[in-house]
Amino acid sequence: MVWDYFIVGQGLAGSVLSYKLIKHDLKVLVFDDPVLPKSSTVAAGIYNPFTGRKLVKTWMAEQLFPYLLKFYKDLEEELSVQLLYNIPMYRPFLSLEEQNEWSARLFEDGYSQFIERLLNPQEALPQVVNPLGGMMLKRSGFVDIRALIRGVTNFLEQRNALRSERFLYRKLQISKDRVLYNGHSARKLIFCEGPSLSNNKFFGWLPMTPVKGEILELALQEPLAYIVNRGVFVLPVSNSLCRVGSTFDNQDLSWDVTAKAKIQLLQKLDKLIRIPYRVVGHSAGVRPASLDRRPFIGLHPKYEPLGVFNGLGTKGVSLTPYFAQEFFNFLERGKPLIRDVTISRYFFLYYNKI
Ligand SMILES: Cc1cc2nc3c(=O)[nH]c(=O)nc-3n(C[C@H](O)[C@H](O)[C@H](O)COP(=O)(O)OP(=O)(O)OC[C@H]3O[C@@H](n4cnc5c(N)ncnc54)[C@H](O)[C@@H]3O)c2cc1C
Repeated sequence: MVWDYFIVGQGLAGSVLSYKLIKHDLKVLVFDDPVLPKSSTVAAGIYNPFTGRKLVKTWMAEQLFPYLLKFYKDLEEELSVQLLYNIPMYRPFLSLEEQNEWSARLFEDGYSQFIERLLNPQEALPQVVNPLGGMMLKRSGFVDIRALIRGVTNFLEQRNALRSERFLYRKLQISKDRVLYNGHSARKLIFCEGPSLSNNKFFGWLPMTPVKGEILELALQEPLAYIVNRGVFVLPVSNSLCRVGSTFDNQDLSWDVTAKAKIQLLQKLDKLIRIPYRVVGHSAGVRPASLDRRPFIGLHPKYEPLGVFNGLGTKGVSLTPYFAQEFFNFLERGKPLIRDVTISRYFFLYYNKI
């Protein structure tokens, strides 16, 4: 059979990219190995315009956020399943300096659109440890990534466009403008293998720095109406359930949960919220992070039919929709990718290796 694209991997990256290509009337065949773990099904799915300990504005927030909100809303309609949960995010202040800093930012262009309001100490929230008050952010929330992947799986299956199997590099034949695999041929093959990229025969030279993360699931004794974020996040996913995470570990890259991470999360949690809880779940995964914390997108320097869409790191939910569209524009309309994301920024590593 003849296809436009093969996609390898159906985590968040492969799901969104294959969906986009199909919506543009391209013929797509996706390979996904259900035995391999998925970073996407462990992730909390939070999107948040601010990032890091110092809470700086996320890279490209102005472009990414309007795009992601519309994209997931449209996808919800297409798949008939709720994916997007807009939930404000509360961040307690730790010092008066911080309070002053954010009071000033309230009037800065680029920041004000993401801040709902500042709460002074008299307005401190009873469920949170926040003696100095804090700030409530808007345009935050979470995407139910598991529901998204299930929905896209059905979407692909209805089109006979999914093979639940391991893609084997040794069976691949590459010519100048096509690839051949098991009797199927395609114009392009895009690898969306998440953390398995390091083992990829063609793109293993890209500088991946995977980071393990662990998350707890808690039954709460009372509902929480916002995400709380300081040291750890507490994400309400229903009236009685929330997720707490995540740890960062770049030494142990196994997918096993650890007692150490659980203790670390609970210690931080106890300094953050006052609601009684019970731990009901614990999971671990590996984030496909790149060395410079920017996505890996583009075509192979030697084998032009081969491409990659990876390196989404800690921010898959916010980066994937926008950059899947940019990748489509590059592949089908010849629009160049921006320097920060194109893998050509690392071609020197490939040429040094061969
Ligand atoms: C603990 C934790 C918390 C996180 N929290 C957030 C968060 O709150 N917000 C956020 O935006 N991001 C978060 N992330 C990051 C997010 O999970 C990733 O950015 C995103 O899910 C990466 O998706 P992916 O499709 O690239 O990789 P994956 O989801 O890992 O998918 C890769 C897929 O490729 C398949 N595959 C690989 N090799 C082959 C092969 N040879 N043949 C067939 N199939 C293959 C695998 O089976 C898998 O299905 C978190 C991650 C972790 C671990």
